[in-house]
Amino acid sequence: MEINLTSDTITRPSKEMLDAMRKASVGDDVFKQDPTVNLLEKELSRLFGKESSLFFPSGTMANQTAIKINTEPGDQLICDSNSHVYNYEAGGASFNSGVSCRLIFGDQGRIFSHQIKEVINPQDFYHSPKSKLICLENTSNRGGGAFYDFKEIIKIKELAIKNDLKLHLDGARLWNALEETTEKPKDYGDIFDTISVCFSKGLGCPVGSALIGNKEDMEKALRIRKVFGGGMRQSGYLAAAALFALEKNRSRLKKDHMRAKEIASALNKLSFMKSIEPVSTNIIIFSLISEKTETKFVNLLKEKNIHIISLGKGKLRIVTHHDYTEKHHEYFLNFIKKINL
Ligand SMILES: *Cc1c(COP(=O)(O)O)cnc(C)c1O
Repeated sequence: MEINLTSDTITRPSKEMLDAMRKASVGDDVFKQDPTVNLLEKELSRLFGKESSLFFPSGTMANQTAIKINTEPGDQLICDSNSHVYNYEAGGASFNSGVSCRLIFGDQGRIFSHQIKEVINPQDFYHSPKSKLICLENTSNRGGGAFYDFKEIIKIKELAIKNDLKLHLDGARLWNALEETTEKPKDYGDIFDTISVCFSKGLGCPVGSALIGNKEDMEKALRIRKVFGGGMRQSGYLAAAALFALEKNRSRLKKDHMRAKEIASALNKLSFMKSIEPVSTNIIIFSLISEKTETKFVNLLKEKNIHIISLGKGKLRIVTHHDYTEKHHEYFLNFIKKINL
């Protein structure tokens, strides 16, 4: 038995999802003639209460497109030091849009209005880069799956309006946050100028992300997506998976969250555990007492065909997901309890 806990992106489509994909009616989406993509985009607009949506091959491309349409070269975006747009998009903000990132050292990937207020450059001070865009990440990947208190997001929105800043949500794992809070997608749609979401993580799709926003921005996004090489043809097969996942795979995320908490509490009892970040959703980030122990631990797991990932700087990560089953979970918990290093 192989247990892969490196990421929620490693899932394979279930038989039911493959059936939905196989049955999809498709067309050429570059000509906007794929009925299933059109349906998915319409459904996302409805869900988030926004005018328009666009299907993307990856979350990175959706975020990069959002940065491009919300800024001009020379502008600055504000984000957390752990954010995906800053750390894991290969420098795309500067490569694609010519913007710099003003980093905030937040709490588990979350930044707060009082911190943002301090780093906004005065609009008339032409010596400094123009603050233009705030990017929030919910849930935060490097922040261990933490999610925002919606009240804080409202405060950030007020600050953004006051300072004429755009607001983008990297919602790759927004579905996870939505399952743990009372807000609806529409609440996010009301606040953010643009929202990216992924189907290829907790929702179990093989490929696919989307960007959601107003009509004018999404018309710009259509052109940018083409520039980035993201115009796809019979992508309805992928959109069918996303539609299936939106309907069937959202509520089960709670299971991933519960299992993550159970894993964290088992890990916490190990004598060589140094610290575990608070677990809110499906990600567990922890460090062990020494580098040597870390290597021993990871290798021991590997021998048992259990895979986890290192984030560097002594941090290890475990992610629960659609293909991590109850059987895997019982086996893994039992195994943790017996580890002796
Ligand atoms: C995974 C992820 C993305 C997008 O990643 P892709 O691999 O390009 O789909 C964006 N933001 C966050 C926070 C992520 O975890």
